[in-house]
Amino acid sequence: MPSATSKWLSLEDALQHTLALTHTVDESETIPLSEALMRIAANDVIAPVNVPPWTNSAMDGYAVCVSDLTHNDMLPVSTTVLAGTQDIVSLPPGTAARIMTGAPLPKGADTVIMQENAITGEHGVKFTDVPSKGENTRARGNDITKGDCILTKGTRLSPAHLMLLASQGITTVSVYRKIKVGLMATGDELCQPGHPLQAGQIYESNSTGISALLAELGVEIIHYGIVKDDIDTLTRTITEASSQTDLLLTTGGVSVGDADHVKPVIDTLGTVDFWKVAIKPGKPFAFGRVGNMVFCGVPGNPVSAYVTTQMLVTPVIERLQGLGQTTSPLRIQARLTTSLKRRPGRTDFQRAIMFAQDGQWRVTPLPNQSSGVMSSVTQANCYLELPAEQSCFDAEQWVTVIPFALRINLENTQ
Ligand code: AMP
Ligand code: MG
Repeated sequence: MPSATSKWLSLEDALQHTLALTHTVDESETIPLSEALMRIAANDVIAPVNVPPWTNSAMDGYAVCVSDLTHNDMLPVSTTVLAGTQDIVSLPPGTAARIMTGAPLPKGADTVIMQENAITGEHGVKFTDVPSKGENTRARGNDITKGDCILTKGTRLSPAHLMLLASQGITTVSVYRKIKVGLMATGDELCQPGHPLQAGQIYESNSTGISALLAELGVEIIHYGIVKDDIDTLTRTITEASSQTDLLLTTGGVSVGDADHVKPVIDTLGTVDFWKVAIKPGKPFAFGRVGNMVFCGVPGNPVSAYVTTQMLVTPVIERLQGLGQTTSPLRIQARLTTSLKRRPGRTDFQRAIMFAQDGQWRVTPLPNQSSGVMSSVTQANCYLELPAEQSCFDAEQWVTVIPFALRINLENTQ
């Protein structure tokens, strides 16, 4: 582990250190499925029932015993079976049963022929296509067999997981408790939006953006508002936070300016494990602990605060929350539309526009890459991730991009 004063850590090393020093908040609660979206399962869940509970039809059509079709091309229709029928009916040999999707397969039937391949007439039903045995049927337990593990401890619950649990008749789930994240904006120049700006002030915007980013992770946020660049106030507020939160995220005041007191205060109250990560935007990122509280100090520049929260704080939150395996952003390859030169040394997350052309992703960095300009993020639809060591990039070269969303406007070209 490098000392807090040694040179910058690579992004990978910083992530490795933060995760090694962060432990899951090992407390759980049982909550209704309707409130469980994005929460992390605290236990495995074992299937109490088979899905489907009986062999049933996957189609609206006709249930038959397929061997009956070798001798007859027309079968009389003996019965109709609807979904929700309580009894399993028997199929008289040499007949077909009209059957609906989800209805139990009659005893004696082994196959369902879809309605679109059936022609009904006065004396029964004829089929235009002879199916193979078992077609269009769903065997008992073929989705889930009673006793299967259907949810593993440490899984973040997606809409699909909730649906799967509901298909088992389950109404509640044991999850890790919500972690409490304290949010503190530091800076003498900051003014709360909604109030008139005084001379020398700017609006405090980091808390709004970071709260929204963290909301996607399902944490409880405790707001500490704007804290002045003053050692006593910072000491008092951070001490208060250390007894109320699992993680404190501060913005601003972690650089080397005369008013940057956050790091020394953490150093006094607890430990700063490392400081400065070789990423751009976002170099002055501090990670430490005060008692049981984890501390992440991100820079004040809005884009730096935003990027470091996504790249460095999110995995820490996931670990605290009990996620079995921390996630990383989706990275895909795209071709650069323009050549690019920059100073090497830091992994760069340039704001860029990706678009599809001739079956390939292409990417154009936005002209303004200032870390104070939040519109560079709202105008972009991806980060162009430039590796730390490389300084020159050619047009048409393959590069890595991190899309902001899984749904993208395909007409968005630059
Ligand atoms: P600092 O990291 O404290 O040196 O701040 C770097 C820059 O970010 C300065 O121009 C600050 O005014 C600005 N800044 C700091 N905190 C915020 C915030 N919460 N919202 C908007 N801008 C901020
Ligand atoms: Mg400041």
